[in-house]
Amino acid sequence: MASQAPVLILLGPPGAGKGTQARMLEEAFGLVQLSTGDLLRAAVAAGTEAGRAARAVMEAGQLVSDEIVLAILKDRMVQPDVARGVILDGFPRTDGQAAALDALLASAGQRITAAVSLEVDDEAMVGRVSGRYSCGTCGEGYHDQFKQPAQAGTCDKCGGTAMKRRADDTAETVRERLKAYHAQTAPLIAYYDGKGVLTRIDAMGPIAEVQDALAGIVGRVAA
Ligand code: ADP
Ligand code: AMP
Repeated sequence: MASQAPVLILLGPPGAGKGTQARMLEEAFGLVQLSTGDLLRAAVAAGTEAGRAARAVMEAGQLVSDEIVLAILKDRMVQPDVARGVILDGFPRTDGQAAALDALLASAGQRITAAVSLEVDDEAMVGRVSGRYSCGTCGEGYHDQFKQPAQAGTCDKCGGTAMKRRADDTAETVRERLKAYHAQTAPLIAYYDGKGVLTRIDAMGPIAEVQDALAGIVGRVAA
């Protein structure tokens, strides 16, 4: 591989563990997590034009238009920290986004380093998503059953006590999001397999096991 900074893609349905694992990879490998979900939620909170257009679509569990997502992603990709290498979390999610990413990287003489598909059962996803919450101060993710802070209500990372839940993390919405995933995003697994950059990992096990599997892959391509 040429000496470009790593560009890693985490694929998987809502609740697969993309955000959880991306944050760990950031710390372990000094990469930058780029979550289009986080960028869109920030746009909604800031009340920007893109945020106002995205809000209802996100709450309904559908995909925001490629036009809006690509605009916020491109804005983020020009920030200087991205030069360290990125973990794309929740992007691309459509054929159009995958093609746009290829074109964006090609224009900079780069390409995708690796894509990892976190493979999970749909049924487990409802429980993972509906038990999810995060620290309102630093964003660290938690789960009612699977990842509890050492002291209930207090973030292990920053000591913050304002925990929050996402408006779209309901059992009904997660079913819509899973439908969107299967219809529009799952085909990208074959797309990246065809490019020879795909690895599939079993993401049904505990967080630490998935982390070990991922760190092994990322360590080979990004260390
Ligand atoms: P995604 O970013 O793919 O939507 P998250 O990383 O936010 O998923 O994980 C969803 C929820 O499931 C979070 O509350 C997280 O703590 C929990 N979680 C993540 N990975 C696992 C795992 N391997 N086993 C059990 N729970 C997990
Ligand atoms: P996430 O945080 O990845 O679970 O995304 C939350 C919601 O944001 C999704 O259900 C979509 O409505 C929207 N979203 C995030 N990333 C994308 C994307 N790449 N393309 C379209 N919609 C997205």
